Amino acid sequence: MKAVKAEIIAVGTELLLGQITNTNAQYLSQQLSYLGIDVYYQTVVGDNLNRLKQAIELASSRADVVVFSGGIGPTQDDLTKDALGEVLGRSLHIYPEAMQKIETFFEGRDKPMTENNRRQAIILEHSHPLDNEVGLAVGIAISQNDKHYVVLPGPPKELKPMFEQQAVPWLLSNVLSGEYPIYSKMLKFAGIGESALEDALLDLISAQTDPTIAPYAKEAEVTIRLTTKAPDEKQAMEKLKAMEAVIRDRLPDHMYADQDIRIEQQILQMMTGMKLTLAAAESCTGGLIMENLTKVPGSALVFMGGIVSYSNEMKEKLLQIPHDLLEGEDAPGAVSEEVAQLMAHEARQILDTDFAVAVTGVAGPGSSERKPVGLVYVALAERGQDTQVWKLNLKGNREAIRIRSAKSIMYRLWLRLKQLQHEQPVD
Ligand code: ATP
Repeated sequence: MKAVKAEIIAVGTELLLGQITNTNAQYLSQQLSYLGIDVYYQTVVGDNLNRLKQAIELASSRADVVVFSGGIGPTQDDLTKDALGEVLGRSLHIYPEAMQKIETFFEGRDKPMTENNRRQAIILEHSHPLDNEVGLAVGIAISQNDKHYVVLPGPPKELKPMFEQQAVPWLLSNVLSGEYPIYSKMLKFAGIGESALEDALLDLISAQTDPTIAPYAKEAEVTIRLTTKAPDEKQAMEKLKAMEAVIRDRLPDHMYADQDIRIEQQILQMMTGMKLTLAAAESCTGGLIMENLTKVPGSALVFMGGIVSYSNEMKEKLLQIPHDLLEGEDAPGAVSEEVAQLMAHEARQILDTDFAVAVTGVAGPGSSERKPVGLVYVALAERGQDTQVWKLNLKGNREAIRIRSAKSIMYRLWLRLKQLQHEQPVD
């Protein structure tokens, strides 16, 4: 199949004034290369209808795929969809599902919805809407005269999930399908960041072999999408499985699933199979681990319950943590190896489970006990074994630290379960 050429058009006067950096172009270039699409041009254009139309006409003359970032918000200077509609000769209309979402969003607030918010629900006639998981502005994918256009929002937090979850599948089936159908498979990783994972697979990724390998990072989880073309599913699966084996061999202690599931789902599946039970004791994560576990249907077979002991008083009262470990001149304090260990140990005893996990730390923004933000201890208690504790120094804001703490102890639990499975294979 001949190479597919792409152009990225980043829209926004802020970009031209140097007020923001065009990180979306960098991200999109990288992601498109993972799909085997060659980016020949990156364009930046301000919020001006005529110049935007000129940029679209020029891009259409020299690229097969044009990917837009930005200019789809509610204000009058958000003009990407208007310009594309004019160039392609298509009318604009409201996409009811997106409009519904905007109305529901405003119903929940005190402020009335201003009329311009309707602009965020606009799509082009006969276009494919791309749902916005994070924000309100709907994206668009559309083909005309063998040219393909993908319109994405400006905020990276909105652009990335829309690209990965909506635009990639659309590109795979509308642009890259070629003579053979496309098959893809997701692999999931924990306990490793996106850059370390890329490093470990750099030779495979940059060789752009068949299958192609595209990493995606979410908060504390990394996913790889393997994509291949083949005349039928059997041949595709052979190629995908062979590449999966190579990757698993390189990262045996990080690849936890060969499908798009969260680590909690994988843990619950393993523990169900092994007939093991689990409890939790949480401080700085405030129940996040339990929320992540109980979101999974059928979790009741494994997860018995837990204790959110946020204050020192509750650590004493509900988990029997001795007062002099928590408070006093020489006390190690609530954020300490000793307390993390006891929290896991006591939770396991009180709930009489096979395993218990515990987390205590400083999520910020302020420090506590004169300990730095991001200092977190996670612990794993197991029936008949010593309780293990790990000290983490996490970066990021409060939300990121809480998410990473919760994922980190899940990763440790998964590693231990994998080891147990290896020792006593289940049938
Ligand atoms: P909004 O609904 O916020 O108006 P939008 O899709 O119209 O979204 P813009 O108004 O163009 O997008 O940009 C909104 C914000 O997204 C910018 O202030 C900036 O923080 C970020 N942003 C926009 N374009 C880029 C880019 N190319 N790279 C990185 N960040 C960007």
